[in-house]
Amino acid sequence: MTSPSNRNSDDGLPDTLHQRWLEFVSQYGSEADCWEALFSATGGGKCQHCGSEDIDRAYGARVAKCRSCDNTTRLTAGTFFQNIRNPQAWFGAIWLFEHGEIANANQFHKLAKVAYSTAWEIYRKISLVVQNDMEAESDSVSLSSGLFARLFSKRSLETPAHVHPIEEQTEMEKSEWGAAQSDPSASPGAHGASPGMTQPGVPTPFLNELSGPAKEVNDCLSKEPISLEELCNLTKIPAGQLSAILVMLELDERALGLAGNKFVRSTPAVRATAAPRAVASPNVLNGFQPSTAEDIDSELMSPINVIVRFFKETFHGMARKYLQLYLALRWCYLARDRWQEGALLRACSQFGTVDSEDIRAYVTPPLVKVLPRF
Ligand SMILES: [Zn+2]
Repeated sequence: MTSPSNRNSDDGLPDTLHQRWLEFVSQYGSEADCWEALFSATGGGKCQHCGSEDIDRAYGARVAKCRSCDNTTRLTAGTFFQNIRNPQAWFGAIWLFEHGEIANANQFHKLAKVAYSTAWEIYRKISLVVQNDMEAESDSVSLSSGLFARLFSKRSLETPAHVHPIEEQTEMEKSEWGAAQSDPSASPGAHGASPGMTQPGVPTPFLNELSGPAKEVNDCLSKEPISLEELCNLTKIPAGQLSAILVMLELDERALGLAGNKFVRSTPAVRATAAPRAVASPNVLNGFQPSTAEDIDSELMSPINVIVRFFKETFHGMARKYLQLYLALRWCYLARDRWQEGALLRACSQFGTVDSEDIRAYVTPPLVKVLPRF
């Protein structure tokens, strides 16, 4: 038997996560408290029959009686929270994200004392909501999913039989490649089907031919460091778009970010000798602190490595099928201003129903969306 006092260490749950959960439970101790919190995000609800907001409902009750038409309404019907059985687990998962905590499904299943499958479902459905909002962000950049192939260690419905989960990436690329070849009007870049993509695990340059603003920025780079501000003045490209372009150029090993938010043209010689960029650089590195000086040398040069390492440490690998949903969760965890208290609950409440089939049917596209700063 495990004594309650050391339960968290036996479960391998991080102390901070455990503390946060206790804080949540002390505020929302009963199912009724959690239902109230969930309904508060939608203004308390209204009658589904006549639309009246004059409804009669007991504290924590899911069913309300309309004072205008006398009909009863189930407040969760047709919403994200339809058919949920454990409001504390659902609201708790949302609350943790809004308070800057991230757990994997296994940790959350122990924390909230729900079945692993429930924890997994909660995480997938929340991430689908966040992903939907990510699509609407104007400064997102698209990257080849192959850049993250090192993470694909778990199987999914998309994994071919009897092979390693990484083959899911290969299969995706083959079908994309096939689609691009059979459609002569398709641009290889647009489909992400550059020949390099047929080698899973090898980071693939996404930008084959530079054009437009990306070319303009690239042309401004030389071996002399240039600041973001100077680039902004030279190109007249808005700062947000400029940062996104620079991330792409960095991933493509055309640009190299230096301390002080300066950039040089990247060459093998420059990459070998350049001082590692400061951890605090306002870029995709935000929110990640390498733990040792050695990590700084080995990890800091590639924004992709930072993301990959975050996923390895938090989720211990993933199935390719859900990469984009994990990227959305990472964004939700790190973009504290965007996802402050109430924001995720609101997004979920406004999203509508998500059923298990929506999750099963989800497949990460060949190009994934990433927000430049996260
Ligand atoms: Zn009514």
